[in-house]
Amino acid sequence: MIQDNYVVFEIGKRKNIALVAHDGKKKELVEWCERNKDILKEHSLCGTGTTSRLITERTGLRVKGYNSGPLGGDQQIGAKIVEGKIDFMIFLWDPLAAQPHDPDVKALLRIAVVYDIPIANNLSTADFMLRSEYMKTTYNRKVENFNKKVEDRVSQMK
Ligand code: PGA
Repeated sequence: MIQDNYVVFEIGKRKNIALVAHDGKKKELVEWCERNKDILKEHSLCGTGTTSRLITERTGLRVKGYNSGPLGGDQQIGAKIVEGKIDFMIFLWDPLAAQPHDPDVKALLRIAVVYDIPIANNLSTADFMLRSEYMKTTYNRKVENFNKKVEDRVSQMK
């Protein structure tokens, strides 16, 4: 649905959830997934390579794995957000460790905000999100109408 400056995308009842954790946070995320397995199994899960593998091994949940984060996994997830294929993310980045792929981390966080998808960067937010009333319903997120933006910019540059 296009409302001039914004486009509305629906987050369905079944969420497309990306799970990503830096090394110092992987244990926390895996344990959180184990605790919340019954809720998570109702949704489609994916994640960066190592994170998704560890979650599947520990919990038995099916998690589609992309590349490992430092090898482009964050960028793959960002691209899926742009395509509308991921609409919910738990991303436990480590505030106490430098990352070789820091630009990719920033890019992923930025694109999640641009596309107005719910993102948790720590466990308490993840707990609140998972218990939100919107987990059981649809939700309309509002995204900048890029077609209009491009048209406006093109007309300004002629
Ligand atoms: P990983 O990637 O799950 O492959 O470790 C996570 C990240 O560092 O972004």
